[in-house]
Amino acid sequence: MKTWPATSPFTTSHNVTRMQSSSTLAAMQAAEALRAAGADVVDFGAGEPDFDTPENIKQAAAEAMRVGRTKYTSTGGTRELQRAIINFYQREFQTEYQPSEVMGASGGKQAIFNAVVTLINPGDEVLIPKPYWVTFPEIVVFAGGNPVFIETEETDFLLTAEQVERAITPRTKILILNSPSNPSGRVIPPTEIRRIIELTADRGIYVISDECYLRFVYPPGEVFSAASLPAELRSKLCIAGSFSKTYAMTGWRLGYALAPTDWTKAMLKVQGHCTSNPNSIAQWAAVEAFNGPQESVGLMLAEYTKRREWLLQALRGIPGIKCSEPEGAFYAFPDIRGCLTNGLKTSAEFSQRLLEDEQTVVTDGAAFGAEGFVRMSYATSMAQLEEGVKRMRRFVEKNGR
Ligand code: GLU
Repeated sequence: MKTWPATSPFTTSHNVTRMQSSSTLAAMQAAEALRAAGADVVDFGAGEPDFDTPENIKQAAAEAMRVGRTKYTSTGGTRELQRAIINFYQREFQTEYQPSEVMGASGGKQAIFNAVVTLINPGDEVLIPKPYWVTFPEIVVFAGGNPVFIETEETDFLLTAEQVERAITPRTKILILNSPSNPSGRVIPPTEIRRIIELTADRGIYVISDECYLRFVYPPGEVFSAASLPAELRSKLCIAGSFSKTYAMTGWRLGYALAPTDWTKAMLKVQGHCTSNPNSIAQWAAVEAFNGPQESVGLMLAEYTKRREWLLQALRGIPGIKCSEPEGAFYAFPDIRGCLTNGLKTSAEFSQRLLEDEQTVVTDGAAFGAEGFVRMSYATSMAQLEEGVKRMRRFVEKNGR
């Protein structure tokens, strides 16, 4: 008779072993742990608005609870949610999506997860421009695919169709776009997005366009969604969107995907076996977010604009730091290579020591595929920005060259 060892070491599956934990979430947790220990933390780590969710949205959620909208819904969300998403895109971008092409998810992250795992077979390649949001490669790895990174430093992190073309191989299955970009804040001009998607459509490559920062573009840049491209360029395109940033709703966990019907059906199959529908109360809040007044979005953008101007000037005044202007989102992505020394060799060491010495949290650029850079979220108050930059300057003057 076969006997089993009474104890066996815990080992994860190959796919999970190959994954890295989320560095953005780790930076948030590091800040949280320091705060809990009583430290006076300045937190540039969290990629989350410091604003409260607008009142009309909270009221819609309260009303949903009051009338008992607290049960399961269809896996991809209620008809009202689908309609609100379709109407929003029609209003803003003159698109004509059908309900079979829309699904709600528990955050933009789940929409991207669904979109990747429904397509990838072992060995398939997924093109990911650098610098990238930390989660993209990890989802690909989890699905058994191979992330293939596209270098963009030669164009100051602005992806071009030529760079995409050079990276394509016969195994390329998906390209992930993210504009405005987390972490660089770069915004790919609409004409270039079109050139990129013409190229991928010609070669039968799928595109996932992560548009979580869609509405946060600083003039003269334009708000643009790949959803507005002509139908022939959308047959392999999935838009991933989120309520988190636009309406300061990170904790509500609500996002969505817009994709061709077959792809959406496959995503619903996956979601139907993991989370089922997104939270029903958050869905009603999201309906109000898209259908209700939009003033809060403009107010947040105006505030981010002020902070961005101030932070850029202040960072550029620190010896050794260079910083390009973010055109969207709410991150500065300074190049700190001019501050590195023998005692402070990498951006990981820089971030760690800044945390220990000055209780100031930034996220290491290497986690986004850009060694020598750090990400600083300016979705935080002016007072925190001023204090954080003061600490950073002091840290660089003490440790930099
Ligand atoms: N997207 C935000 C960030 O990049 C939230 C954290 C996460 O989900 O990665 O910081």
